[in-house]
Amino acid sequence: MNFEILTIGTELVLGLTLDTNGAEIARTLSESGVRIVRRTAVADRGDEIRDAVRDALARTGAVITTGGLGPTRDDITKRIVAELFGAPLEFDEAVWQALVARFARFGRVPVASNRVQAEVPRGALVLPNRWGTAPGLWMEGELDGGGSRGLVIMLPGVPIEMANLLAHEVGPRLAARAGGQTVRSAVVRTTGIPESTLAERLGEIEDAIAPLTLAYLPGWPGVDLRVTAWNLPVAEADARLRAAVGLLRDRAGGHAYGEGGDDLAAVVLELARAQGLRIGVAESCTGGLVGARLTDIPGSSDVFVGGVISYDDAIKSALLDVPEAVIGRYGAVSEEVARLMAEGAVRRLGVDLAVAVTGIAGPGGGSAEKPVGTVWFALAHGERVNTPARFTIETSATRALFVGTRAEIRARAAQAALYLAARRLR
Ligand code: AMP
Ligand code: MG
Repeated sequence: MNFEILTIGTELVLGLTLDTNGAEIARTLSESGVRIVRRTAVADRGDEIRDAVRDALARTGAVITTGGLGPTRDDITKRIVAELFGAPLEFDEAVWQALVARFARFGRVPVASNRVQAEVPRGALVLPNRWGTAPGLWMEGELDGGGSRGLVIMLPGVPIEMANLLAHEVGPRLAARAGGQTVRSAVVRTTGIPESTLAERLGEIEDAIAPLTLAYLPGWPGVDLRVTAWNLPVAEADARLRAAVGLLRDRAGGHAYGEGGDDLAAVVLELARAQGLRIGVAESCTGGLVGARLTDIPGSSDVFVGGVISYDDAIKSALLDVPEAVIGRYGAVSEEVARLMAEGAVRRLGVDLAVAVTGIAGPGGGSAEKPVGTVWFALAHGERVNTPARFTIETSATRALFVGTRAEIRARAAQAALYLAARRLR
């Protein structure tokens, strides 16, 4: 079953409103086993909407639209589509009563223009909208002039109403037609490895996972590997996806830290929790981002203790005991300072594991020797010898060079700090 998506609204064409509806529909229909052939956006103009719907029906036979179902004069989708089917608009008492009841709940009375929203093209199926005033419409049949048939599903533009109608009214009807087939994806999340190096490691993976397909999606958290099963029976799609995910995780090794929307910070907390370890941070260029990532995860307090945002060198010395002389000799962005920051955090915070980050986020402050994006990381693991004295047994340091804007460099540095912690904990 093939479909086109047509999003209607001048604000979409001008780029003033992001077309989130188009993306949401594409995801949901794919899940239902529908193949999305094309996505188009048009302005609130009768001739352009008419052409776009007619062309889509000529090509594909089925189109789903959003927008232009409201009560105002720019909302013309329903009238245009009704004309294409040669169907007159008829006042629908049930739709009107539902609208009156909805208004009453908010202490309002519909105005004259709302009556237009109760008009339904003859032969259309009404998709009741419990989340707003404009119902969705399902029109299927012979087009005006005869000869060809078409299916047009019209949904309102308001994203929350659109999403609910899609999930509750449209998805199930299309899934029933698709005969249990689905287009479904799974994601393996990797970090700490560039896209091309990862591809080398995965080898001839495309042949191994066929007919599933693989996409590399690089971003600041790392490279996400998305595998997609196209138009397969649901059970087969799930079984093949599980096998492909296992293979990808296997080949990506320690770089694979999760699936779907998994967060590396949660992985770090879980690993530390399982070993009964407590974590602290000493952050310079990330300014608390590592701590923020960890505290974003509910329940982090049993593992994450806190940290020192030692942005100024004076704080590195005063609160983390990094000698001024060391900073003066090697610079704040150096292996020596990173190590001392981590060790200072272990002692001062009384944690088992401390992560330190110091780098140059830019855009200024770089040099030939230490270009913008240079970041030193250190991990210190402290072991209790006799309470309250602590003895730092192991410190390691790593340097990285990140590219991007200041925000990207900082986000990548925080992710790398979590990755190093996860590796150490493993
Ligand atoms: P409409 O149903 O055309 O009156 O649109 C109602 C609201 O939904 C407006 O604020 C639009 O900007 C918003 N909207 C319409 N289409 C989309 C879309 N494709 N994606 C996101 N928002 C949209
Ligand atoms: Mg509109």
